[in-house]
This record gives sequence, structure tokens and C-alpha cells, in this order.
Amino acid sequence: MNIQDKIIDGKKIAEDMKKEIAAEVADMVDHGKPAPHLAALLVGDDGASKTYVANKEKSCQLVGMTSSVYRLPDTASEKEILDIIHFLNDDPDVDGYIVQLPLPKHVDEKKVIRAINPDKDVDGFTPHSIGLMQLGEPCFLPATPLGVMELLKRSGVDTEGKHVVVVGRSNIVGTPVSVLLSRKMKNANATVTICHSKTPNIADFTRQADILVVAIGSPLFIKADMVKDGAVVIDVGVHRIPDNSEKGYHLVGDVDFDSVVGKVSRITPVPGGCGPMTIVSLLHNTLLAAKNRR
Ligand code: NAP
Repeated sequence: MNIQDKIIDGKKIAEDMKKEIAAEVADMVDHGKPAPHLAALLVGDDGASKTYVANKEKSCQLVGMTSSVYRLPDTASEKEILDIIHFLNDDPDVDGYIVQLPLPKHVDEKKVIRAINPDKDVDGFTPHSIGLMQLGEPCFLPATPLGVMELLKRSGVDTEGKHVVVVGRSNIVGTPVSVLLSRKMKNANATVTICHSKTPNIADFTRQADILVVAIGSPLFIKADMVKDGAVVIDVGVHRIPDNSEKGYHLVGDVDFDSVVGKVSRITPVPGGCGPMTIVSLLHNTLLAAKNRR
């Protein structure tokens, strides 16, 4: 099998999903309803956060959604941030919104997230959304885990009865991925092992994985000797590595793609794997929020 046949093309799958979403948005507008509106709250000047928010705005435009960004300086008080949250909760024109994380250190992130109206929680970060996900009830799933589920489904990877090893247990990626893949439902029904920084001899676990999902935030951590022959590898990690190119950097994942690709049956590249799926999942949730509210 050549390398190209092994690639799970997140960019292409995300483009397909964008087309489907754009068609639904156009239909909504044709029926005289306003286009879904996604707002974002951006606090501070962090370069990566600014890029993420700009990408989200651009993606909204591409599918015909309305977007708006509320900006505050990193000196903003918790009260100023909560005032915007309350405003967005009450604004009838906003279907859903995200609070770009991380927030400045002096702000209680948990308090801010708890203040988000669950009906507008398109990032799926509130305790309400997480509780519904855990119960398997309809809800906004967090964007990156939703993207991983869609990638597996749309690239025809069968998860039923498979041993999935998830490396990383964060609230926004590893834990929800492990919950979703172990659910009693179509495109899930996997047996899931979750590993983290306190797991000894991690390769003993990763080598048992039929499907390996990696979200640890450590560049090129997973090498060929940590992967089973024929495994499917989903690399959620993304890191900017400075170089002499025009951009000044290139992206790599948590998986050492070059070392691993010869051994696996399918693999997501970085860039072009999970990243595009995260943004399109946010659009999916915004459309869902708009449908719920119309
Ligand atoms: P995080 O909150 O820092 O969590 C990292 C997790 O990995 C923790 O559970 C940690 O264990 C575990 N871990 C760290 N080092 C480890 C090691 N050496 N061995 C085993 N486990 C280890 O990170 P995150 O927010 O989940 O993000 C993970 C990566 O995904 C990052 O590179 C991030 O940039 C990327 N990401 C990408 C997207 C996308 O759209 N593509 C979206 C979100 C995140 P402990 O719990 O024990 O500390």
C-alpha cells in the first residue's frame, strides 16, 4: 500500500462537511430565516488564539454563517468578561458562541465556562453539555472529539469491538474521545484504554491498539516501535516547529509520521488531519444551535 492510500484526509472530509453545512444554511436563508450566527470572545493578544479565531470567522463566511468577535485586552477583569458572557447569553441574534481559551491567569476559567448558556455552548465545554454527552443524550459535543468521530466514520474505519488506546486525558480531547468511542452506539462500541502521564511503560499499551488516538501535546512522541502493525493512528497534536522557511515554522503532530507511516494501515497527517475537522465541527454545532433555536 502506498503512503497516499493510508492517509485519512481530514482536509477533504472537512471540505465535504462544509458543503453539506453550506447547503443547509442556504436552505434556512431561502426559507426566510436568518443565517446561523457564531460569536467568539477573544481575551488578550495570544498569536495562536488570534489565528484560531480568524480561521473560525473565515470558515463561517465560507458556509454562509454570520460571525462576530468580541475582543478584550488581557488586563480585562473577570467581571468585564462575565458581562460579555451575559450579553451573549441574552442576545437573540447570537445562536452560539465560543470563549477562546486559555484566558489570562487572573481569570477563573471554570467560572467563565459555567456562565455560558448551555443552549449556546457550541464548544460543548459547559458541565451541562459534558453531562449530556456522558449520558449519551443529544448535546453539543466538543469540537475536536466530534471531529475525530467524524474522521473515523467518514473514512470507513470500523471501531466496533476494536481496541482503541487514547493517549491523553484532557477534558477537551482525550477524555471525551474515550467516552464517545466506548459508547453503545453505531460507529463506536470500541473497547477503550486511556493512558496519561502517570501510565508506566506506555508503549506496552500503545502497541496493543487497533486504533491509536494521540492527544498529549508532545511533538513526535509516538515512534514506530510504539505502534502495532496495521493499526489506525489518529494524531490530534499540533506543534509549530521553527524553521528557515518563508513562514518561519512547520507543523508536526504528537506522532512521528515518517517513522510510523510504514507500519500503519491508516493515519492522519499534520497538518490536514484533525485540525480542519475541529473547525468544521464547530460549524456543525452552530448549525445545530440555530436549528434548535429557530
Ligand atoms: P493537555 O490539556 O495538555 O493534555 C495533555 C494530556 O496528555 C494530559 O492528559 C497528560 O497527562 C497527557 N500527557 C502529556 N504528556 C504525556 C506523556 N509523555 N505520556 C502520556 N501522556 C501524556 O492537551 P490537549 O488540550 O488535550 O491537547 C493535546 C494536543 O492536541 C496538543 O498538541 C494540542 O495542541 C492539540 N490539539 C489539537 C486540536 C486540533 O484541532 N487539532 C485541538 C485541541 C488540541 P496528565 O493528565 O497526567 O497530565
